[in-house]
Amino acid sequence: MECIFCKIANGEIPTEKVYEDDRIIAFKDVNPGAPVHILIIPKKHIPGLSALTEDDTALMGKIILIAAQLAKEMSVSESGFRIVANNGPDAGQSVGHIHFHLLGGRKLGWPPG
Ligand code: 5GP
Ligand code: ZN
Repeated sequence: MECIFCKIANGEIPTEKVYEDDRIIAFKDVNPGAPVHILIIPKKHIPGLSALTEDDTALMGKIILIAAQLAKEMSVSESGFRIVANNGPDAGQSVGHIHFHLLGGRKLGWPPG
């Protein structure tokens, strides 16, 4: 198993967890791009948005809900935050296990670079 996020999900690589249940784990990004920068991932290996199937509908919904709850916990719910999922080379996806960035705590530029 080469996937770094699978290794984080199964505890092989230690990380600063902020949420975990049977299907999902959220942890602090190792190279934060904002004061709040959390990654939310399914424990199941899904390469990216392009690989999603109908079966993943509830899982994806739960991830967005967790992201919004974490935004509250991190006190950026009112100030504002962004959820980002990079998919493929043009978007700069660097890890081939689907993940959602929760970014906040500063003014975020738009459109992204
Ligand atoms: P992407 O560029 O694919 O959208 O996002 C991948 C993110 O994963 C990057 O923000 C990067 O800093 C983060 N990342 C990569 N490897 C690790 C790791 O081993 N631990 C943690 N916590 N974050 C990682
Ligand atoms: Zn994986």
